Amino acid sequence: MKVHDVTLPTGLKIGAEWSFSDRADIPVFNPADESLLTHIAGANEQDTKDAIDAAERGFNTWRKTSPRERAEVLRKAFHLMQERKETIAHIITLEEGKTLNEARGEVNYASEFFRWFADQAVQLDGGLSAAPNGDKAIMVSHHPVGIAYLVTPWNFPAAMATRKIAPALAAGCSVILKPATETPLTALYVAQLLEEAGVPGDAVSVLPSKSARTISDVMFADSRVRKISFTGSTEVGRVLLHNAAERVVNASMELGGNAPLLVLEDADFDTAVEQTLVAKIRNAGESCIAANRIFVARSLYPAFSDALAVKMAALKIGDGRGEGVDIGPLVNQSTQEKVAALVDDAVAKGANLLTGGKQPDGKGYFYPPTVLNDIPDNADILHTEIFGPVAVIIPFDDEDDVIAEANNTIFGLAAYVMSADTTHAVSVAKRLEAGVVGINKGVISDPAAPFGGMKQSGLGREGGYVGIDEFTETQYIGLDWP
Ligand code: NAD
Repeated sequence: MKVHDVTLPTGLKIGAEWSFSDRADIPVFNPADESLLTHIAGANEQDTKDAIDAAERGFNTWRKTSPRERAEVLRKAFHLMQERKETIAHIITLEEGKTLNEARGEVNYASEFFRWFADQAVQLDGGLSAAPNGDKAIMVSHHPVGIAYLVTPWNFPAAMATRKIAPALAAGCSVILKPATETPLTALYVAQLLEEAGVPGDAVSVLPSKSARTISDVMFADSRVRKISFTGSTEVGRVLLHNAAERVVNASMELGGNAPLLVLEDADFDTAVEQTLVAKIRNAGESCIAANRIFVARSLYPAFSDALAVKMAALKIGDGRGEGVDIGPLVNQSTQEKVAALVDDAVAKGANLLTGGKQPDGKGYFYPPTVLNDIPDNADILHTEIFGPVAVIIPFDDEDDVIAEANNTIFGLAAYVMSADTTHAVSVAKRLEAGVVGINKGVISDPAAPFGGMKQSGLGREGGYVGIDEFTETQYIGLDWP
C-alpha cells in the first residue's frame, strides 16, 4: 500500500528484521467508506518470543549509549516526523477516520514527545548527599527498567505510541509495541522512521496481532520483560494488571474516562460554548478526555443547550480527507452501533433530542453530532464512556452538589471548568477527582504536562518531568562519607 508515493510497511517488525510472512491475516479498513486498505502480518507466539530476544539485544546496546546520543536520535525522530507530517497524517486519517487537520495536529503532538524526552534524557537527575547522622553518603541514580511492553489504542495511533516510546527510549529501555488491530499502519511507519533516526533496529519491535492475549501471555511469562505500559479501556487494563501481578511487573496504566464539564454561573457564555464544543467533538468524541457529562448552571441551561445544538448541527461530517470536513467517521461498526444504542436508549426513556440522533444511510461509520438534554437518571448514557459526538447536558443548582455528582464515577481522568473568575475556577478544579483539568480550555494535552488519571482511570503519568520515571528504576547506594 502506498501513501504519497511512500510504500508503507505491512510486515512485523521483529527487532532489526521486518518479517513479511505469508501470514498477512489482519485486514485494515478505511472507516469512511468501509473499503479494505490492506492486509498486514499478525504476530504469533514465536514472533513474540523472537521479539523479546531482539529486545534483549537491543537493550544491551541502547542502554550503553550516552544520554546525549539518545537525545540526538530522539531529536532526529522529531524532525523526521515533522518532515513526513503529511504522509503520517494521511495514514492516520485513512485507518482511524479523523479529519486531516486533526491528524496533522496529532502528528505535531506525537512528534513533540520525541523533542520533549530528548531534553529529559540528558537531565535524569541523581544525587549525592550526606545521611542526617553523618555516618555515610547517600548516592542515588536512575537506570532503565529494561524491556518495555507497550500496548496502545486506536484513537490516537501516533500519539499514544510516541507518548510511551519516547520516554522509554530516552531512559535507555528497548520496547515492544502492540498497536491496536484497527490502526497498525501508523505504528509500523513510525517504527520505520525511528530506525532512520538512528535507533538500533533491535531496540524497537512492533507486533500487531489479532490475538492480543497471545502476545500478552508470552510477554508476562518472560522474566526479561520488566515493564507494561498500557493505554486503553479500564476493562482491559484490569486484566493486564492481574497479569502483571504474577511477576510483579512494573505497570503504568492510562485507562478510560467519564469527564465532567462544569459550566458555572459566572462563565463567559461564548467561551463556554466554544470550548465545550472543542472538548466534545475532538476526534469525533473518541477521546478518553472527551467531555462526557456537561453540567450547566440552571440559569444558563436553556440558552447553553440551544447554542451548543446550533454549533453542533453546523458541523460538516464526511471523509476526513474532504474539504471543510469537521468530523470524520467513528472507527468501526461496533463503535457506531454502541453510540447509536446509547442515544436511542436515552430518547426512549424521555431525553430531549436537540439535534442529530439519526444515523445517516450509506457507507462509512458516521454518526451525526448530537445534543441531548433533560435526560432521565436511568439513561445508560449518563453512566457510560460515550466515545462519540454526543453532548449530554445536565442542569445543576448547587455547586457542592454538582462537584459531588461530577466525582460520582469510578473514573478520574479529565474534567473541565468554565468560569470567567479564575480563582473560582481553580477552587472548583482542586475539588474535582481528575488527573487533568481544563479551565476555559477544551484541549489540554501537552507533552510537557503530566497526563494521567486518578481512581480507575489509571496509574502513573505520561509526559512532563515525571514521564521518564515510569521507565526507570531508582537505585540508592550507601557508602562511607569521605
Ligand atoms: P481497548 O482496551 O479495547 O484496547 C486497547 C489495546 O489493548 C488494543 O491494542 C487492544 O488490542 C489491546 N488489548 C486488548 N486485550 C488485550 C490483552 N488481553 N492483552 C494485551 N492487549 C490487549 O481500548 P480501545 O477500544 O482501543 O480504546 C478506547 C479506550 O482507551 C477508551 O476506554 C479510552 O478512554 C481509553 N484511552 C485512554 C487514554 C488515556 O490516556 N487514559 C487514551 C486513549 C484512550
